[in-house]
Amino acid sequence: MSSSPLFTSQPSAPPISRPPNLSPPSSHRPTPEKLAFLLDKSRNLNQVLQLHAVILRQGHECNPILNFKLQKSYSNVGRLDRSFSLFKRTANPDVFLYTAIINAHSSRGLHSQTFELYVEMLSQGVEPNAFTFSSLLKSCLIKDGVLLHCQAIKFGFDGDLFVRTGLLDVYAKGGDVWSARQLFDTMSERSLVASTAMLTCFAKHGHLDDARVLFDGMEEKDVVCWNVMIDGYSQHGRPNDALVLFHQMLKEKLKPTEITVLSVLSACGQLGALELGKWVHSYIVNNRIQVNVHVGTALIDMYAKCGSLEDARIVFDGIMGKDVVAWNSMIVGYAMHGFSQEALELFDELCRKKFRPTDITFIGVLNACAHGGLVSEGKALFSLMKEVYDLEPKVEHYGCMVNLLGRAGHLEEAYNLIKDMNVDPDPVLWGTLLGACRLYGNTSLGEEIAKYLVNENLANDGTYVLLSNIYAGVGNWDGVAKVRAMMKERGIQKEPGCSSIEVNNKVHEFLAGDLRHPKSKNIYMMLEEINQWLKAHEYSPRTETVLRDIEESEKKQSLGVHSERLAIAFGLISTSPGTTIKIVKNLRVCSDCHTVTKLISKITGRRIVVRDRNRFHHFENGICSCGDYW
Ligand code: ZN
Ligand code: ZN
Repeated sequence: MSSSPLFTSQPSAPPISRPPNLSPPSSHRPTPEKLAFLLDKSRNLNQVLQLHAVILRQGHECNPILNFKLQKSYSNVGRLDRSFSLFKRTANPDVFLYTAIINAHSSRGLHSQTFELYVEMLSQGVEPNAFTFSSLLKSCLIKDGVLLHCQAIKFGFDGDLFVRTGLLDVYAKGGDVWSARQLFDTMSERSLVASTAMLTCFAKHGHLDDARVLFDGMEEKDVVCWNVMIDGYSQHGRPNDALVLFHQMLKEKLKPTEITVLSVLSACGQLGALELGKWVHSYIVNNRIQVNVHVGTALIDMYAKCGSLEDARIVFDGIMGKDVVAWNSMIVGYAMHGFSQEALELFDELCRKKFRPTDITFIGVLNACAHGGLVSEGKALFSLMKEVYDLEPKVEHYGCMVNLLGRAGHLEEAYNLIKDMNVDPDPVLWGTLLGACRLYGNTSLGEEIAKYLVNENLANDGTYVLLSNIYAGVGNWDGVAKVRAMMKERGIQKEPGCSSIEVNNKVHEFLAGDLRHPKSKNIYMMLEEINQWLKAHEYSPRTETVLRDIEESEKKQSLGVHSERLAIAFGLISTSPGTTIKIVKNLRVCSDCHTVTKLISKITGRRIVVRDRNRFHHFENGICSCGDYW
């Protein structure tokens, strides 16, 4: 049948078999060409059904082109069932019919049916063409991708640009960066689709430098490529690079989309870059990018992380049709800043409005209780979560509870909670309890936990540091030395501290003891001045927090250049008196820097806001909002 000439006039059924009133005069009968044209134009089921009726009436049902187009049209108007039964009724379907039905199944993500059809096609002796492979690859999984790759080679289509791009996409989505790259590197010409697939593969799997080389080398780049690159940086802890690229994108007169804006706001939040974040917000408003619930939630998150809860709340109040995710961002924002009461009030409102809180909501309110030392409220919420909302607590919720109990000095209760929980405790959870042991000087429980962690291979750099701090806190320098030797032996290195500060729309980053900043000389002069003030205020550093069994003087020196101190010193010399200094730190603030920052806020009359790994500290007039409890 596939060999029959196109649009042959099939012998018509005798006119008598049709109701005469429905039969158009033969001069007005649409030709097969006209019917094919009309099928291409059909947009809904009704039109296709009418054309199908005409085809049957005129006895064109065996016309291969009309049959093919009818099968496609049914699929296009969402009736795969009719398309499939038409296919099944066709005797000896050819490669075009097989490919069309395979494509229809593949586009709907029906993996197994797609492959059954392919196998049937091969068993009928019908050879695939390049389009068959492109169709099969559309929705296939990586394991099938490898099989299809072999098949494509067997049938000689592995050099086809579309087949290669399809294969590349399968490998890229399946996370096989190596195979994707092999294919990409050996492509004679690269379409934008292939380059974008490769770029996405690199950027999502964190191969950002490879992605950047590819990105820079692409002759044509659409907004999708820019988004992939910016988002890659933002998602993989390189927010500064994300922002630099965003500026470049604007310079090249490309119009950011909602996805760009979401990535950039996340980058601003990570850096605590409030001015940039505000600028992006006004850009959104001026360019009429809709502040829908996604953009709104990203703005709340950005403002909360950049220390401006007032702005976060304004955005929150302005979002139409808020979902629970938006509520969660605001609650988590309040909790992060230690505004426990506000977080709990918002939670009550959420419940009154009949929203169903999620596990993130509970992380927010439990954290609020932990930061506010609200033990009974926290316990009540923890059981509300389980009993009323039927949410199984995750390790994060236990983390909040251990934090809450530990900080309030209920160390044994916290320890028992961890021992009795249904999920595997992670090092962070134990670290929290170790931190509480340090706070309360409970060396024996601290040691017991630390030993368990080391034996079970659960210890991480943070655990060792905490254990060492527990020993140092009670003056057990042998213990400190032992931990240090263990860390060396196991090749564990302390994550380097890094602090950033935004000045004049630029984010400046500092590592401990950093000398790279162009204003280093002035920064260190300022630090020296700070040390003189501290001396005048009879301050002596708490050296036990330094993980080193070194000479006292050296310890003092190494404290003097913790990254947040460099950032604060830079803030002092580069902003006008009275300006609030905002710092973002990747690790927890050490107790010595905490004390020093309190003193600096008192001496200089500046507000200093520090976001550390755990929470916000608002230092003002010698006092911190955390109540020395973090
Ligand atoms: Zn410090
Ligand atoms: Zn604090």
